[in-house]
Amino acid sequence: MGRAVNLRIPGPTPCPDDVLEAVGGPMMNHRGPEFADIIKRVTEGLNWVFGVSTDVLTITASGTGGLEAAVVNTLSPGDRVLAVSIGVFGNRLASIAETYGAEVERYELEWGAAADPDEVARRLDADPSIKAVLVTHNETSTGVTNPLEAIGAVVRERGPLLIVDGVSSVSSIPCPAERWGVDVLVSGSQKGWMVPPGLAFLWLSERAWEACETATMPRFYFDLSRARSSLESAQTPWTPALSIFYGLDKAFESIRAEGLEGIYSRHHAVAQYTRDRVRAMGLELFAQDERFASDTVTAVRWPDDADGLAIAKRAREEFGVVLGGGQQSLRGKIFRVGHLGYFTQEDIAAALDVVERLLAETPARATV
Ligand SMILES: *Cc1c(COP(=O)(O)O)cnc(C)c1O
Repeated sequence: MGRAVNLRIPGPTPCPDDVLEAVGGPMMNHRGPEFADIIKRVTEGLNWVFGVSTDVLTITASGTGGLEAAVVNTLSPGDRVLAVSIGVFGNRLASIAETYGAEVERYELEWGAAADPDEVARRLDADPSIKAVLVTHNETSTGVTNPLEAIGAVVRERGPLLIVDGVSSVSSIPCPAERWGVDVLVSGSQKGWMVPPGLAFLWLSERAWEACETATMPRFYFDLSRARSSLESAQTPWTPALSIFYGLDKAFESIRAEGLEGIYSRHHAVAQYTRDRVRAMGLELFAQDERFASDTVTAVRWPDDADGLAIAKRAREEFGVVLGGGQQSLRGKIFRVGHLGYFTQEDIAAALDVVERLLAETPARATV
């Protein structure tokens, strides 16, 4: 693809040249007719990918801003919330809710595991006052995808709102919000959408919009009722990251050409290739159960005696292969390979070739 660097972190991800060109386009009046055309086209594209019949909102923020908006618009201080966490991003979503005064019960799993829908059901049955369930669809820190459709079914049966972090899943793996009973779905531009960081996308169900009317957590910039009413006149309440809008408008041409089925099957096939290749190299996947291994990012354990940090450094400096590291307690224990958005199997093969070569060449870490 003519890139000097093989950027294999799970976001920001590489952007196609035509997207980067579009991003460099001239500024325009964000309250004028040209931008109105862009936001209408982009919103139509987002609605299609999210699988929804009402408009997805676009705000200027990274994914975390989208998650904060999801929480503060639908909840009130003191609300009981069940936070399902299987890693760094699940904990982050729980922390956002806590920061704004929700009473958070955590259903935390060992990192590498996926959540059990039956346990979600048990926790909801044990505490009918729970008002919302927070779930990460695809946990980017561990390379695990939660069984969201099944979780959606048990939550919908019991009534709380289902607030989903789909930042590293939506547009890469199926996540049809309406069909799966999701109430708030959030994604971010720099993951599977093939554009730079700067925009977050949010969709709210009718029930979620009703919750907004009584929710009392403080909000101003992230007040989604303003975003919704601005969108009626094809605008945003505040100055948007215009450049990223240009890029996304361009990226939708490729997304439409490949089609959702094509995109999902490319992600699945290359993820399967990645997992097979890693195992053939004698390495172990971090995901405990391969049925829940992510199709957008693969997390792999470094062998006990390998100096993973040194290998990753050599991969970057000598071969231009930038791997994702382990976050927090996983630092030096795993590496992650992003395969989402704009990539081919050759990009992944090239990165794994380098890992294989360096594993053979780099001296083992002194073990005590
Ligand atoms: C990347 C990511 C986020 C958002 O991170 P930002 O740096 O704020 O864009 C949130 N959740 C998941 C699962 C992610 O992968």
